[in-house]
Amino acid sequence: MNTIDEAVQVNGRRYARPRAPTVVVCVDGCEPDYLTHAIQAGVAPWLARLHERGTSLIGECVVPSFTNPNNLSIVTGVPPSVHGICGNYFLDAARGEEVMMNDPAYLRAPTLLARFAASGARVAVVTAKDKLRALLGHGLDGICFSAEKAAEATLDSAGIDRVPELVGLPVPPVYSVALSAFVFAAGVRLMETHRPDLTYLSTTDYIQHKCAPGAPEANAFYAMMDRHLARLDAMGAVIALTADHGMSAKTDAAGRPRVLFLQQMLDDTLGVGLARVILPITDPYVVHHGALGSFATVYAPPAALARASERLRSLPGVECVLDRETAAERFELPPDRIGDLVVIADHLTVLGTRADRHDLSGLTVPLRSHGGLSEQLVPLLFNRRLSGLDPDRRLRNFDVFDLALNHAQPA
Ligand code: ZN
Ligand code: ZN
Repeated sequence: MNTIDEAVQVNGRRYARPRAPTVVVCVDGCEPDYLTHAIQAGVAPWLARLHERGTSLIGECVVPSFTNPNNLSIVTGVPPSVHGICGNYFLDAARGEEVMMNDPAYLRAPTLLARFAASGARVAVVTAKDKLRALLGHGLDGICFSAEKAAEATLDSAGIDRVPELVGLPVPPVYSVALSAFVFAAGVRLMETHRPDLTYLSTTDYIQHKCAPGAPEANAFYAMMDRHLARLDAMGAVIALTADHGMSAKTDAAGRPRVLFLQQMLDDTLGVGLARVILPITDPYVVHHGALGSFATVYAPPAALARASERLRSLPGVECVLDRETAAERFELPPDRIGDLVVIADHLTVLGTRADRHDLSGLTVPLRSHGGLSEQLVPLLFNRRLSGLDPDRRLRNFDVFDLALNHAQPA
């Protein structure tokens, strides 16, 4: 790395260079309660002792509380209005097509990871699912691979090869707790072998969609995480942990999914096909939530907007309906990539299109999901005391690199 005093400026923020290897972990769907339960159960001794020398805060994630907008906010340090990624999926108005937003062509800001690498820092990124790899690794001259496609990583494509051999684990199935375990194990092995200056680890919320805080499988996940973080800590790493979003049960009192099928309702109210409902949670991996989340956007002709909005507001389970400008301003979203209306469901409710378009056959447990305001609070944990932090400051998950690099480094 170059001289240690040289800070890196990116997207209007300044980041000091790490004085110790710094690892930022984004635990997918980590509702703060998961950590509390794991600590209470005695399975997370590293977390349990963090308060003695570290810092535990709560921050807000970006709404929609989905994976891609939040991961990209974390690695750019700015909200979706700046970096452009406001869902996993959207209606590309220019092309008139519904498309996945995981192509870096949609990214409007550089990542701080790429900037650090360009200024000479050794940077490593490990993500669970491959869908995030291209976005997180955009422009990055460093190590970047997914657990899902770890066997395909080459020096050319990922800055590293023979990953399964390095990690000492087979490539896990995409729907498994092993996928996240691979991410943590890779982080530890990279620290042992490469000692990157800056590491970003991003897991998958497979377990969090399936299990409530305190469930045996959830506690086993956090016990696994705890063991790996303890090893990174023992190697001298500054560790910062946050989440892309929380997670809530989206069920009635009998455990059935509480779903509002918005396309069906708007077709009944306005006429078939007049309005178009887009669910930005949609991605190729829908088995554990059936593409049901608590956030939707709606496109409709100007003459139909007032009726659409009135109908949506009348639905029990809908927390708010906002027009494009209001939603873009309140949630810091790019107005050209959201619909005419933004609909957010309450903490027990999810939004769908039509009943026949959601395959819930893979749902073997009561539905848990995210997307709304009710999943906005996430942990911000550090294994160091933070210094020089304004106690009144509003904290966001995408402040995590600022906090880790500007407030948590050793003297
Ligand atoms: Zn997520
Ligand atoms: Zn999820």
